[in-house]
Amino acid sequence: MADELMDYDEAVERFDPVIGLEVHVELGTATKMFDAAPNTFGGEPNSRVTPTSVGLPGALPVVNKKGVEYAIRIGLALGCSIAESCRFARKNYFYPDLAKDFQTSQSDEPIAYEGALEVELEDGSFFTVPIERAHMEEDAGKNTHIGGADGRIEGADHSLVDYNRAGVPLVEIVSHPIIGAGAKAPEVASAYVRTLRDIFRALGVSEARMERGNVRADVNVSLRESPDAPLGTRTETKNVNTFRGIDGVIRYEIQRQAAILAAGGTVLQETRHGQADGTTKPGRVKSDADDYRYFPEPDLVPVAPSREWVEEIRQSLPEMPAAKRRRLKEEWGLADEEMRDVVNAGALELIEATTLAGPSGQAARKWWMGELARKAKEQETSLEELPVTPEQVAQLQKLVDDGRLTDKLARQVLEGVLAGEGDPEAVVEARGLEVVSDDSALLAAVDEALAANPDVADKIRGGKVQAAGAIVGAVMKATKGQADARRVRELVMERVAQ
Ligand code: ADP
Ligand code: MG
Repeated sequence: MADELMDYDEAVERFDPVIGLEVHVELGTATKMFDAAPNTFGGEPNSRVTPTSVGLPGALPVVNKKGVEYAIRIGLALGCSIAESCRFARKNYFYPDLAKDFQTSQSDEPIAYEGALEVELEDGSFFTVPIERAHMEEDAGKNTHIGGADGRIEGADHSLVDYNRAGVPLVEIVSHPIIGAGAKAPEVASAYVRTLRDIFRALGVSEARMERGNVRADVNVSLRESPDAPLGTRTETKNVNTFRGIDGVIRYEIQRQAAILAAGGTVLQETRHGQADGTTKPGRVKSDADDYRYFPEPDLVPVAPSREWVEEIRQSLPEMPAAKRRRLKEEWGLADEEMRDVVNAGALELIEATTLAGPSGQAARKWWMGELARKAKEQETSLEELPVTPEQVAQLQKLVDDGRLTDKLARQVLEGVLAGEGDPEAVVEARGLEVVSDDSALLAAVDEALAANPDVADKIRGGKVQAAGAIVGAVMKATKGQADARRVRELVMERVAQ
């Protein structure tokens, strides 16, 4: 039976939504968190495992130092305190993709705790998300259910399990309950995860590719009568890995829970699963922490990062994406809105790379947000995927700046580059597109045009300066657009004055 839903606007009018996000990021270390199996995406099933990955008797774990370093990098970037000493814990549960019957995680001693992340919303306002902790853990393997619809376990006749992902290092970032976002809760959540994704990339701790599940969010939602009421009962929707999905799950849960509460019902504390149609469906009734029988992992010593090491890592942190955005906005002289368009178009990195090869921010932006954005739209692809590099755009702009191409010719050269004809210089050569800057060649064309239009020449001499346009047009036509129109006009005026 379909869920009853309340209209979204009405729901956020009547209730105060509270959300909580648990974001998992897979770290890009060379090996797994507790053993030496390679940490690479995909591969022949069960080819990237050691006895430790699958918890064979007697196999012992060892902590991956790089994994700890990356967790500290993330913690510091989120303004967290870093534990002087912290232990791993066993989170006990049975699932076929977890061969050890427990996940090595951290419970009451996370490596990083109490931070915050400021995120920017579409309208340019900022919202601060309070962060409770960031802890280290490992990923599970992957079950594949065969025979049912959509790869679901329901109706499947058998299941396969691949342990290649078992033991891949994860950092889980747990927010405090996020209050005060009101109707903007879905937007705050997706902006938060997007900002985290950008930070993971900037830190170099993960490729953070959402489509590969490198970043996944568990989305908690509850409603309460008013901002001063105690928190309501939450649901947790697992493993959402698109920004749209995060937004959609929160909207849906707000509408669904509002309908239940308005009818005098109670919301069940449960795990839910996001569906392709944007709804959520109940999964298991949520376990309490007690059910996991967390206890300290006896096979691993505590992790005690020295303060010197933590400071060293702090010093090595790159500029954070938000700060970089602010800096580039200044440097390029863009308005807030222009910068937001650049970011939303996914053009920031491309424009930056272009400027590093020479052109000004404004010139680089003009190409990527103008002609190239049009091309990408036409070809239904992204700017990133267009077959042109920032270096090539820089070369093109240099040809314009040097007066060798007009804007119009430059666009034709760009066509050639996009068509795979090589670098701008090669296209200019092959297509013979360079501006005719040689005055003698232009003068010949001007003289020819004046001779062919004696009446026009007379008009110009008689003071009708606008008439020069016809001669300029004739010269442009004769040179197939490869003349600089301003220079042609100057030559026409010089000629008639003689
Ligand atoms: P669990 O391990 O059961 O998932 P956590 O303590 O890790 O529980 O919390 C899950 C997330 O839900 C956290 O981000 C937390 O801030 C958030 N949260 C806790 N209570 C609520 C609530 N009533 N409504 C919305 N989010 C909540
Ligand atoms: Mg959880």
